[in-house]
Amino acid sequence: MRIKTWTTGDIGIGTRVFLRIDANVPMKKGAIEDGDRGRIAQSIPEIIRLCAHGARVILATHLGDPKGKVDAKLSVKPIAKALEKRLKRKVLVLDGVIGKHVEKAILEMEPGEVVMLENLRFEKGEEENDTAFAKSLARLADVYVNNAFGACHRAHASILGITKYLPSFAGGLLHKEIKELSTVPLHPFVLIMGGAKLSTKIPILDVLGKKADKILLGGAICLPFLKALELPMPVKPHGLLLPADVASAKAVIKKYRTKLFVPIDLVLDDAEERVLDVGPDTVKLFSSELKGAKEVLWNGPMGIIELPGGRKSTEAIAKLLSRNKPRRSILGGGDSVDYLEKKNLLGGFTHVSTGGGAMLAFLSGEKLPGLEALR
Ligand code: ADP
Ligand code: MG
Repeated sequence: MRIKTWTTGDIGIGTRVFLRIDANVPMKKGAIEDGDRGRIAQSIPEIIRLCAHGARVILATHLGDPKGKVDAKLSVKPIAKALEKRLKRKVLVLDGVIGKHVEKAILEMEPGEVVMLENLRFEKGEEENDTAFAKSLARLADVYVNNAFGACHRAHASILGITKYLPSFAGGLLHKEIKELSTVPLHPFVLIMGGAKLSTKIPILDVLGKKADKILLGGAICLPFLKALELPMPVKPHGLLLPADVASAKAVIKKYRTKLFVPIDLVLDDAEERVLDVGPDTVKLFSSELKGAKEVLWNGPMGIIELPGGRKSTEAIAKLLSRNKPRRSILGGGDSVDYLEKKNLLGGFTHVSTGGGAMLAFLSGEKLPGLEALR
């Protein structure tokens, strides 16, 4: 896929650049999680490149889902602090997303300066892709650059609407993501899927599974599969066993039964009410199925990594990949990336994607609104 990237002729001294980044990082007790291969860190090179061209850089991201209302707990201020530390320059957070005062503050910027808009989702128009809101965003800048791969599957104002009103380009990180994810898979190709968000992930598995030689399932996503296979369900997984998901799991099983691997043992919590993780025998099984893999694609943790009892298998598989070093191995998904980074377990991956849902959608051949707008 070809998308427009900017060159020296497009951006010069004083150009106001609206740089859409994806700094939607996990938060824990009000603090953001920011690692060296995380989304904030990965957005740094483009900002530096733009500053070096003398641009006036206007950063914008969403954080969490405040649903169109101002929520001080979801202010981008901690993100700006993290950016400042990495950039070693000031990142002033403006008071709001759009409006006269925001426009004025931007006009007062010097070339090479960086400001940041407040959380885009403080405004209802963002998720609604509202025309008036998109126009107000466009008024802030001369050029639009999209570096927010993780948000490209959303038809939101800062991803899609704004591109109608400004010369629009892909940033370096977006370009790199597309390049890394556009390669033909090397075989044997093993797909590892975990995490939650079942209703979006199972249909994607249905498509992506075709390219894979093996599919290993863990996390909450394996539960409808266990049910569909009529295997014993040791717990009542509240809310994780919707009939619709079981039905789509059945369809996936029908297509791919010879290459699909589900857990053979599970770790339960003390009250035996929840599945915390896949068990040690499953880790052994998955490890042996991963032997000789030339390419691995992994999305979503194998267990509830937020709890001490839910982390072992995710860590064990990441360690195995750092030892095996498949020729190509891609990890994507906010929670999985953040967790493995904290544990210093990203060594086995050749590409750490800034997209979770966006990565899966792209790989399964969906047209992403944010990318279509840049062709
Ligand atoms: P990613 O962000 O890596 O794409 P998801 O957002 O799909 O992953 O899912 C991450 C979440 O999945 C984690 O919060 C984790 O607690 C949850 N999860 C993993 N295994 C289970 C399970 N067995 N039951 C419930 N939730 C689970
Ligand atoms: Mg997630």
